Amino acid sequence: MKTHTEYLYFTTKNKREIINITGQVEEAVTKSGIKDGMALVSAMHITASIFINDEESGIKQDFLEWAERLAPFNPNYNHHRTGESNGDAHMKSILFNHEVVVPITKGQLDFGPWQQVFYGEWDGQRKKRVIVKVMGE
Ligand code: ZN
Repeated sequence: MKTHTEYLYFTTKNKREIINITGQVEEAVTKSGIKDGMALVSAMHITASIFINDEESGIKQDFLEWAERLAPFNPNYNHHRTGESNGDAHMKSILFNHEVVVPITKGQLDFGPWQQVFYGEWDGQRKKRVIVKVMGE
């Protein structure tokens, strides 16, 4: 089995953003030369997410609004007793999960028709990292 590892870096303009990273994952798969296997894509932070969904501006806005309803920005999280102020971002990270595994067939991401990979940033405006680990042969 071969493996290939890459790191993607993001510094978002806004505190919360959803970024389509499918192209960068595809590039990592191409560079790996792996034709059959899987790619693990994982946020290396506890205030960010990786998830699969639809490249459609309405649903992306709905995700941001839904995350804010379920885990609103608010000064009163217990986490803030430690001097932090990002309790909401930890919760939002959990809502969207922190990693995905994507199948690779014939050297390409083997997705359903509308599936894309997204990076969810919940506490941005600083440099954050994502690992892409491609495995297979
Ligand atoms: Zn924190």
